Amino acid sequence: MANRVSPTQIVSDELAVAKLNEFNELLAAESLMFPADEIYNSNWDTLHVNPFRNTDIEFPDAYNIDCSSFTMPIDHEQIRITSKYGPRRRRMHRGIDLGLHVGDTVRAAFDGKVRIKSYERKGYGYYLVLRHPNGLETVYGHLSKFLVRENQVIRAGEPIALGGNTGRSTGAHLHFETRFLGKDLNPAEIIDFENKVPHKDEYVFQNIKINGKKSNIYSTSADAIAVHRVRQGETLGLIARKYGTSVSELCRLNGISQTSILSIGQSIRFRAKQITIEASSDAIQKKQPAKSEKVQTPAANTGHSTGKKIEVPIQTSAAENTSDEPIYHKIQSGDSLFSLSKKYGISIQKLCEMNNIQQNIILKIGQKIRCS
Ligand SMILES: [Zn+2]
Repeated sequence: MANRVSPTQIVSDELAVAKLNEFNELLAAESLMFPADEIYNSNWDTLHVNPFRNTDIEFPDAYNIDCSSFTMPIDHEQIRITSKYGPRRRRMHRGIDLGLHVGDTVRAAFDGKVRIKSYERKGYGYYLVLRHPNGLETVYGHLSKFLVRENQVIRAGEPIALGGNTGRSTGAHLHFETRFLGKDLNPAEIIDFENKVPHKDEYVFQNIKINGKKSNIYSTSADAIAVHRVRQGETLGLIARKYGTSVSELCRLNGISQTSILSIGQSIRFRAKQITIEASSDAIQKKQPAKSEKVQTPAANTGHSTGKKIEVPIQTSAAENTSDEPIYHKIQSGDSLFSLSKKYGISIQKLCEMNNIQQNIILKIGQKIRCS
């Protein structure tokens, strides 16, 4: 190997790593002192839940929110959702209600800093608002006791309060909100409360423009948004059935009501539940659990042509496969180390190493080459 490393090089590398760690720690500390300051523009309002309530705020078109460190705000084994996010009795319910007993511990959902510690007799009761470095803010309402002070830096999972029944509340529960730049987001779109985990490690806020106009409607990137052009005779019900969605979902995504009259050529957004990926038949086989140690998956025998378009539900896309099972490729006419390298995303050098062959080897049809 040409690139030999000298001992002094190693020492200076270690120093560089130590410096980098120190720098990263500083960064992390700063991100907790001034959480998501770059998007909140140093707006640290300690009175109002929506810090931009009087401002015509420009939402970013898309913003990635790292939810991987989420911790359930309550300790209950079984999560009881007593009220969902959404319109409720002619007023908007901007959070989700989680059943608890007065005095139960309430925990910070993410690392962050306490922005508001306050009381609202006709609303939240005793409540806290935390701002997080990932850009989200979380609200905790109807509390009975605070365990933190204003501006306190908090780690995910740290106790911040005790649950209660204060404010506009009938029965003890935690009113929990997730907000982005003041705008309430449906917490259940971000968090799978029953399983106490985020749906995805990264939630993508998307500020969708409808017919060129900015809208406050948001969505996650978990499902790609696609557009349908209305044809003569089509109704929302028909379009909903066609794409396996509901009329209410279409209304929400398009900012229209169920009784809206559709015009021909109008764009209707819908969530594309399925993605189409370029996948070879062996990529699909790769997903199946291997029964024996040395599984051979000769693509040629399946009769499928490679590069065929296969519809795969997002949740199980072949790209997410993390299996360590070795994959073998049976050489077909036209295959080369170069084409295998591209197909399996592995370098030619690695292919040679794994198969103990030379780069200039002539591949024989039917020969088995380990490709992962
Ligand atoms: Zn509530």
